Amino acid sequence: MTNRKVPIIDLKAQLASMEGEIRAAIDSVLDDVGFSNGPATRRFEEDFAAYCGVEECVAVGSGTSALHLAMCSVGVGPGDEVISVSMSFVATAWPILYLGARAVFVDIDPRSYTLDPEQLEAAISPKTKAIVLVHLYGQCADMDPILAIASDRGIPVIEDCAHTPGAEYKGRRAGSMGTVGCFSFYPTKNLGAYGEAGAVTTNDDALAARARMLRDHGQTERYVHDHVGYNYRMDGIQGAVLSAKLKHLDAWNDRRRALAAAYDERLGDCRVITPREAIPGNHIYHLYVIRDDDRSALAASLGRRGVATGLHYPIPIHLQEPFRGMGSDEGDLLVTEELARTCLSLPLYPELRDDQLEQVIEAILAERG
Ligand SMILES: *Cc1c(COP(=O)(O)O)cnc(C)c1O
Repeated sequence: MTNRKVPIIDLKAQLASMEGEIRAAIDSVLDDVGFSNGPATRRFEEDFAAYCGVEECVAVGSGTSALHLAMCSVGVGPGDEVISVSMSFVATAWPILYLGARAVFVDIDPRSYTLDPEQLEAAISPKTKAIVLVHLYGQCADMDPILAIASDRGIPVIEDCAHTPGAEYKGRRAGSMGTVGCFSFYPTKNLGAYGEAGAVTTNDDALAARARMLRDHGQTERYVHDHVGYNYRMDGIQGAVLSAKLKHLDAWNDRRRALAAAYDERLGDCRVITPREAIPGNHIYHLYVIRDDDRSALAASLGRRGVATGLHYPIPIHLQEPFRGMGSDEGDLLVTEELARTCLSLPLYPELRDDQLEQVIEAILAERG
């Protein structure tokens, strides 16, 4: 057995692959002193709107603030209900609580792991103010039936695109299909800043204007605050870094897909469950998540073979303390709870070398082949 390590992510390798571009981008912000919401941030808004195929992009300080602004902008408030999924990072649902609304969780489809459209209708009530879905692990939710149900009732749809910059569904990019898209550029995401960053995307000018106003202390003009606002601006260095990295995103996503295809092929016959693509070719594999009935033992064995793994996510949102008593208890979301119990994320990032991929595959085949 070798002692080489395969980490779960390798941010140093990515920096090494484009260090000159990154340092030039940061230098340009030092030169123009546009540190907060400056020219580099505005340039990124244009670049990213064009990339996603939307009219408007509002750059913000994190994915969580993007989700909060989106929910504010569609008018979620105290006493409202917001339908969402529980199989996600907790940030998807935090703003529902920030706004005094109630989270109504719907289970996921057992193949795609995204919101099950067949369960959506039954969750809608006269109090439903928004639907917040997640394009989990890099695969878009089944948007056509979801958008049909929502538009029939005039309910806005918010896409949590933290895992899917560049992913497509029937030719449309994530963040361009619903009422609003919310992105996180946390450093480990497919498009990662060198600090905290996020964005809201939309084709609705009025909604974008409202998000811009709320992002900057609710100012309608300088020092006039007609609304409760926030400081959710993106700093200039993140804007410059993100524009530089955006040029590489398609190639990085392609490399992720190629690595996932290799995992699929080599692990297809062993005793773990590999991920499925609802529509082949649309997944961008932010995460490659397998399922195993004894995942703790498998993770420990892989660890002894130098292979790091992750858990996304071990406790679903409806079982987190602040969400208790909202209506979903243990046993209510069976597919979600089963995935939370069995999920295991394998190393997958564009910089993963072929010999590292081989080491992961051989380690799994040795345990579950
Ligand atoms: C990372 C992430 C977020 C939150 O983004 P931050 O930038 O960390 O605030 C929201 N939703 C999902 C699904 C995420 O993975």
